Amino acid sequence: MLEWAFLLLPVAAAYGWYMGRNSIKQNDQSAKEALSKKFSTGINYLLSNQQDKAIDFLIEALKVDNDTVEAHFAMANLFRRRGELDRALRVHEYLVQQKHLPSKDKQKAIYELGKDFLSAGLYDRAEDMFMRSLKTNLYGLKSLTFLFQIYQSTSDWQRGLAMEKMVVKHDDKKLLHILANFYCEIATKALADKKYIEVVEILEKALTLDPNSCRTHWLLAKVYEDQEQYSEACRCYQEIYHQDNEFFPDVIENMHQCYIKLNDEVEFYAFLRKAYEETGSSSLLIKYVNYIRVKNSNKKAQDYMMTALNRRPTIRGFKHFVKLQNDDKECESNNESMAMITGLISSYLKVKPRYSCRTCGFNSSTHYWSCPSCHGWEQLKPVRGLEGE
Ligand SMILES: [Zn+2]
Repeated sequence: MLEWAFLLLPVAAAYGWYMGRNSIKQNDQSAKEALSKKFSTGINYLLSNQQDKAIDFLIEALKVDNDTVEAHFAMANLFRRRGELDRALRVHEYLVQQKHLPSKDKQKAIYELGKDFLSAGLYDRAEDMFMRSLKTNLYGLKSLTFLFQIYQSTSDWQRGLAMEKMVVKHDDKKLLHILANFYCEIATKALADKKYIEVVEILEKALTLDPNSCRTHWLLAKVYEDQEQYSEACRCYQEIYHQDNEFFPDVIENMHQCYIKLNDEVEFYAFLRKAYEETGSSSLLIKYVNYIRVKNSNKKAQDYMMTALNRRPTIRGFKHFVKLQNDDKECESNNESMAMITGLISSYLKVKPRYSCRTCGFNSSTHYWSCPSCHGWEQLKPVRGLEGE
């Protein structure tokens, strides 16, 4: 019973406001009494846990005066928040059907009904409602955002792209970023079919919408690699570093291979060292230390690693340090023990997620361009800190 007390608050507040506002209208006394009776009956039903009957009475009260409409919105939104979608739908649908409602209330009812359908997973009906809200000043951008949520859930990328003009008109950064990723989804499929010209055309459109999309440059780099245009691929990888260096550890191997093809490893390691000094990433450190080992000696590599780990300890870095010692023929340490430590650290790291979502904190060993939890695009990046980069 008590749980209904909070549901009554907005209803009672709106009712109180209504009654206060109308107290000066002495000639409207009979309507007020009728409304008062219906509200009281409705609230009584709510208190006795007969919500459906309560809705009947409260809806009936709306017919008396439009001023009660806010109370109905509050009631329906509470139903939705409690997961009682059928009841929320019933109230909002009733409001939408009311021809005498002012335009702003009608628009709100249509928009809220869209949210009810979306919560219920009825995407086509939600889409209808949001489409109807698109041209309104108050709900246009919000409806567009929900429409993109629907198209993302149904992987209906083309429907989203059909909204491009509207997104550009709103000039909303978040939506432009989402739309660029819709283009990337289509480009990924075209790339799998090796339709390179088509892929580049699609990605150019994506870059127009969001010049800072790492994913777009990542796909472009793939195209250039497949076409053996390695300097162009390297330029894309450098672009990823400048756009969002948290993505960089995942492309470092590909970038290295491109520089090998260009026979320009010196430039690669110069870039790598600069990137490591700026970010402190363990993947970059390991890559650079391996270079020192080949160019100089294992001992020099160990010294560099030791200094780096003292400055910024990471488990991955420590594992590589142990490996260097294990490989060192002159090292007096017990090789068997070292191998065991390396094995233990590997097992430990294997169960640790490689990626985390920067928006919601979702962890995963696999990379997704769209977070499976919050559905944000390009939010899963390599984990930072002691157990990550
Ligand atoms: Zn997330």
